[in-house]
Amino acid sequence: MTASPPSSSIRPEPATTRLDRMLTGTDVGSVFVSNYPPYSFWRAEQVPGAEAVLDSPADGAPPDLGLYLHIPFCRKRCKFCYFRVYVDRNAADIRRYLDALGREIETYSRRPRIAGRPLRFVYFGGGTPSYISARDLRSLAARARAAIPWDEADEIAFECEPGTLTEAKVAAIAEIGVTRLSLGVEHLNDDVLRENGRAHVSREVYRSMPWIRAAGFRQVNVDLMAGLVSDSWESWRDTVERAVDLDADSVTIYQMELPYNTVYSKAISEGRRRELILADWRTKREWHAHAIETLTAAGYEQTSAYTLVRKGRPSEFVYRDALWRGSDMIGAGVSSISHVGGVHFQNADSWEEYLGALDEDRLPTGRALPTTAAQRLVREMILQLKLGRIRPATFQAKFGVDVLAEFESAWESLEDEGMLTRGPDEVRLTPEGLLRVDQLLPLFYAPEFRNARYT
Ligand code: SF4
Repeated sequence: MTASPPSSSIRPEPATTRLDRMLTGTDVGSVFVSNYPPYSFWRAEQVPGAEAVLDSPADGAPPDLGLYLHIPFCRKRCKFCYFRVYVDRNAADIRRYLDALGREIETYSRRPRIAGRPLRFVYFGGGTPSYISARDLRSLAARARAAIPWDEADEIAFECEPGTLTEAKVAAIAEIGVTRLSLGVEHLNDDVLRENGRAHVSREVYRSMPWIRAAGFRQVNVDLMAGLVSDSWESWRDTVERAVDLDADSVTIYQMELPYNTVYSKAISEGRRRELILADWRTKREWHAHAIETLTAAGYEQTSAYTLVRKGRPSEFVYRDALWRGSDMIGAGVSSISHVGGVHFQNADSWEEYLGALDEDRLPTGRALPTTAAQRLVREMILQLKLGRIRPATFQAKFGVDVLAEFESAWESLEDEGMLTRGPDEVRLTPEGLLRVDQLLPLFYAPEFRNARYT
């Protein structure tokens, strides 16, 4: 990493804050907040409670319902990846898994809490959904939508790895009704991609974009990652410029972290940190800010901590917004996460347990946590803070809680640090606060969840 700022940078160097002293180097551990309470508090003993919720119809009108399908196959394991993925499965394994996935969705569709409810959104995530063949994709989609129709859904989202795409596969992805295709570009420098163990190279991005454009998806998103190992100001600046040229409808930027169970985390825990050219958090924020500035100057506007949307193009991201506002979601597939009727649950995270449960016609739930109203309030509030602003009236109406008073000391401390501004109608993160939003959110956790392992 070359730690010199770009000559075009107009951002003043931020003052060192208490928060900077809390999180400096990229160490092993999770920073990104995707749920609450932390996953490490979910328990196998709570699984019967999750099952009971599925067996009881909702009181009154249920919230929107979504479906997440986890396709856990990748061509190679990226060295920063902590997801449950397999790189060694053959065609028969994949067929067996997809059959189990179909069976799981059918099982859900018969449970009283789910039966008869339309899907508002569907998300194919992974892993690499685009890894599976066009034929397998068509038959998985046909089976899933026969169980829970998605013709009326507002969004069908699908993640792609550029090197897995062919023109025929892109056509199949369009044919099953995908409206939002997200391309995992991450970076456009081949040396950086190779160092981080990515399976694709930049040529495959450029090869697939014309097919994607021609297929006419409503929205095309490109994912980038700031702070990949061995990145530098030069290669990041070049990547951002080339990402602008891709002319995607939206660009999503994450800052690389190293949760437990990644190849790099293992190297660090074995004392090989010196071998890695690793940006610290301040540098990653500067790279992230540079991308925001460049994309904004090119006609994009920021819609969340991570996402910028080209003005005048479709800007919605139904999956994200529904999840952050407390919708129900069935997560199908190994290790997938669900949230239904106020209960969190996660599927078994091993191949054998997941498939074994479905072979016995059981749901493969591995651990669960029934949430309290106070926990659901915190969950929705911290996730919505990632949008850059919240309206206290929203939470007063839904939970009967004045969040300004309830979290007064957290707001005050973040305001003192220059991370947000607040008024009676709105709390708004500053640009600096938005760049490190995940680092701020644990301040709102109940004491028993602070300083605990996240996953
Ligand atoms: S492509 Fe995505 S899911 Fe697959 S190994 Fe890389 S980061 Fe993990």
